[in-house]
Order: sequence, then structure tokens, then C-alpha cells
Amino acid sequence: MRHRSVVVPSSRVRWLAPAVLLALLGVSPRVLESRASAAPGPVAAPPGVAPGGAPGIAPGGAPGIAPGGAPGIAPGVAPGGPSSGAQKDDGPPAPDCPPATFPDDGACVVMPDEQAWAEESEGAPEGEVIAQGHFEKSGRWLVYDQIPRRPDRPADYEAYVFPIPGVLPGGKHVVSGYDLDLPDHQQRRGRMRAVGHGAVDIPQKRGTPIPMVPLEHQVGDAEVIHVGKLMGFSVVTRHTLREGGRTRDYVLIYGHLDAAAEGLLRGATLRAGEIVGYVGDTGSPQLVHLHLEARRLREGIDGSKLAPGRILAPDVSIVCDPRNVLPLKK
Ligand SMILES: [Zn+2]
Repeated sequence: MRHRSVVVPSSRVRWLAPAVLLALLGVSPRVLESRASAAPGPVAAPPGVAPGGAPGIAPGGAPGIAPGGAPGIAPGVAPGGPSSGAQKDDGPPAPDCPPATFPDDGACVVMPDEQAWAEESEGAPEGEVIAQGHFEKSGRWLVYDQIPRRPDRPADYEAYVFPIPGVLPGGKHVVSGYDLDLPDHQQRRGRMRAVGHGAVDIPQKRGTPIPMVPLEHQVGDAEVIHVGKLMGFSVVTRHTLREGGRTRDYVLIYGHLDAAAEGLLRGATLRAGEIVGYVGDTGSPQLVHLHLEARRLREGIDGSKLAPGRILAPDVSIVCDPRNVLPLKK
């Protein structure tokens, strides 16, 4: 976090005398007065006369803070020093601050780089890696990493865009969703070797074409990093997403395919809408469906160079709730 700000919860604000508050914010009343006279607009209500508000508190705002301004920093204060109208403070002496910093409570605070901040703010927040555990069929307790659905992402699978239409009642898509974030006893048990399910299963007719749907905040095209056996016959694509102020690589596993797209080979790039493969039941006899699994590649892992047998390795990729990366319906 590059921004430095003083945050006083508004619930506390109401119960603090204005002078105490100003001290908390590092602003002396005299400085505030001079700022108020320099800056137009409702900076501070006259003491005791704010209609409908507590004494000294401007309606709708924290005391002494102009709307839209950072607490304790008057609008119009130039980087490198307080405005010429500011009077001497009772607090610590204002240090002689280098360029691109400003004095704040005796310290020099670095001005946020707005350009860098704007770039950092693009993309999705970063999904958190959470450790989880379950009993394997052998009885061994296994601890694994997983990235559960972020709180800002809708729980309803139908809020998302899937590469193939849904055939369930109401056009719904998902018969079995991500459950690796649930307590072990609530995870799916089936004929699989492992318990739990780190993907979405989408039933469809055999042979239904599956186009590449760019993930949320995807940068560029997808790259095919595997065509062949993995979860039945599978295609694995690598996607670069802007997330948490930087880019991260994810892989999507399209499992149980009938076939890959004609001529599709490792190393190919896929643009939006280009065909990945066709729905089938390889490795899941009688259950024709698409197993769509998202995994985040760990730091420093180059998906382009991964051996197929390593894609699912815990030191290579972390299984992730697909709702973190699937695009939302518009
Ligand atoms: Zn599945």
C-alpha cells in the first residue's frame, strides 16, 4: 500500500471533541483556519452551529475535512511544502522535505505515484491462497493449497460466462462445482482417487465445440500448453491475467474431451472464440461433460515449458475457484 492516510472511524468521530480530532489528524485549528480561508467551499462549519449535526462537524463529512480531500491534507497543498498561507504549527517543526514528498506530522511523506497507482488498480484483486485438508481414500490426511472464491465474486455460477451453453433446467451449467474450500466432510466423494472437486462440471452433448473464452482481466491470447491425456483427453491453456497490481499466469484444464480442435498443438495461441476442442467423456465413461478447472501457476513457473505430468503438481500450480477468473456476464 503506497498511500498513507489517517483514518478515524466515523463512529468514533462523533464522540471526539473537535480539538482532539484535529490533534489526531495532525492539524492544528490555526492551520485549518488558514486553509479554510485559502480554499473555497465548506471546509469547517462554525463551531456549534452545524444544523442537524454535532457541534463543529460539517454535515455529511468528517470535521475539518473538505469533501474529496484526504484527512489532514488541505486541497491545494503543493508537493514539497505547505501552502504559503499556512501558519506555524504547534506540532513538530516542518522538516525540509525533498521534492515529490510533503511534510506530514514531522515526517516527509512520499507522494503516491498516481500513474503507478492507476496501473496497480487495474485488474482483479489478488485471490488468497488458503491451506485446506482432506482424507484421501487411503486414509491419509492431505493438506493442500487452494484459492477459494473471493468475496467480491458472485456465488451463483450463472453470473458467469461459460464456453458452452448450459443444458440443465433453466439453462444452468454446473452439476458439480468447486468444493475444495469446504470442510472435508462436505466435499464431493465419488469414484475418483482423490476426494473433493476443484473445477466445474458442465454436461453437454458429445461433440459440442468449446471456444476459448478470455478470462477476466486477461492480457493477450491464450497459449496451448498441453494436448493429450490428463483428465481424460484434455487441452490445457495458459492465460495471463492482471491481478493484484501485476500479471499472474493461470491455466485452464478442459477435461474429458472427445477431441481437441483439428491440428491444435502445444505452443499454439488461441484468440477469443477459436475452438479449443469438443465435449466428450474420455476418462469419465457415460458422463459426457466438460471438466473446466482453473489453476494459478506459482511464482516463477513458466507454463510454456511445463511437462504435462507437472501441470497439476502442488509445487507448480494452485487449484482455484473458477469463479475468480471466469468473466462475468455483462
Ligand atoms: Zn470435474
